[in-house]
Amino acid sequence: MKKIILLIAFGSVLFGCKNDAVETKSNSILTTTSILGDIVRNMVPEEIEVFNLMGPGTDPHLYKASPSDYVHIREAQYIILSGLHLEGKMAEVILGMEGEKEVREFASAMSADQIINSDGFSDGHDPHIWMDVEMVRLCVLRLRTDLIKWFPEHSQIINSKSEAYITNLGRLNREILGILNEVPEENRIIVTSHDALNYFARAYQYEVRSLQGFSTAADFGLKDVTALVDFIIERKVPAIFVENIVSDQALKAVQSACLERGFDVQLGGSLYTDALGMEDSKAHTYEGMIRANALTISQALKN
Ligand SMILES: [Zn+2]
Repeated sequence: MKKIILLIAFGSVLFGCKNDAVETKSNSILTTTSILGDIVRNMVPEEIEVFNLMGPGTDPHLYKASPSDYVHIREAQYIILSGLHLEGKMAEVILGMEGEKEVREFASAMSADQIINSDGFSDGHDPHIWMDVEMVRLCVLRLRTDLIKWFPEHSQIINSKSEAYITNLGRLNREILGILNEVPEENRIIVTSHDALNYFARAYQYEVRSLQGFSTAADFGLKDVTALVDFIIERKVPAIFVENIVSDQALKAVQSACLERGFDVQLGGSLYTDALGMEDSKAHTYEGMIRANALTISQALKN
């Protein structure tokens, strides 16, 4: 059913305007997620507009492109996707336009051995690469080359802004390592709703558990809740974390179930997983969101 709606929506945009000449935007980049939009904005001059389809707090796993999104896609000359199937069907449509548009997947800079594989995700790859700042730094290095090729007239400023951003990311990575290392080793367990933190776990030496698997679209049942409650009690996990893109209901139920069995696990706060925070939060940039997460985790787990 989802497929049919999408095809109708896309078809009406594509075929309804079949005879109109589409004027593509040559000084604008279309990005998909809010995280990606912020990263690209840090790399290009203000004259180049960066337009992202998904706003802050938007769950990319459940995102359904609207007809107006497809108008933006049709008008865009330059499109950057996060990649590794995060954008689902929309990615297939956009990647099908390679040749008539310049399309890049941000994650394409990663080598096969840097990508975390899992049967839990549609194409066997975990798409949540932004949770490892070093992976983002690598992808930014590669994207810089593409951006300079796309906008040669702005090459100097793209180069200098990207260089400064790459330096910032290196600094950010060291800063959060310091914050995360304040947590005693036995407490370095992060329990969340969906499995967004595997790259984080690998990079910063934490263990992660979730209720739902890699995608927020996955179902979970009583068995999953019970297994997670067993794990929390057995490992004496001090706190569990809700996420900015997922309802906190399920984890609150996990907390109650722990309490019923005599174990008082705290809600450690909200992590920004697959989207930036709102404009008035400290997490409205990629750097801000990563720092906010590290502080939330450290505060909740270090005691
Ligand atoms: Zn996710």
